[in-house]
Amino acid sequence: MIDLSNKRNRERLIEYLLNFAFENGIGFIMVKVGLDDPSASYPDTRMMVINTNLSDPNELPFIIAHEIAHLMLKHSRLDFDSSPINGLRTDSNADRYALKMFLEYCKINDFCFDTWFKFAEVFCIPKRCYYLLENYFRMVG
Ligand SMILES: [Zn+2]
Repeated sequence: MIDLSNKRNRERLIEYLLNFAFENGIGFIMVKVGLDDPSASYPDTRMMVINTNLSDPNELPFIIAHEIAHLMLKHSRLDFDSSPINGLRTDSNADRYALKMFLEYCKINDFCFDTWFKFAEVFCIPKRCYYLLENYFRMVG
């Protein structure tokens, strides 16, 4: 079973995500700024800036997947700024896309989980996404 606290496993997952980004014409810069400062993506240049300075390094893969999602879904500044509700919707669409990337990674590597909660735990999925997972796992049975 995958264990992200194992550095090698975490690096393999990050490598998978960054390869996916590269294959889709997305560039990235890894930076070490303030502790837990947010990462960001820039649709005009298809670039993401990822802050690797995290209190929990296990959260890094999901952060990368979330920023890739914004660029894959072609979100723009306007999607966030037009209204607070649109901002939330845009972020939850990115979360949904990020979750699908992780599920795909599990499929490729034959990782199976008994419950969505176990999956969430293993991949350090933020709690704000739990309702999405609940719905998703209900759908696939
Ligand atoms: Zn976001």
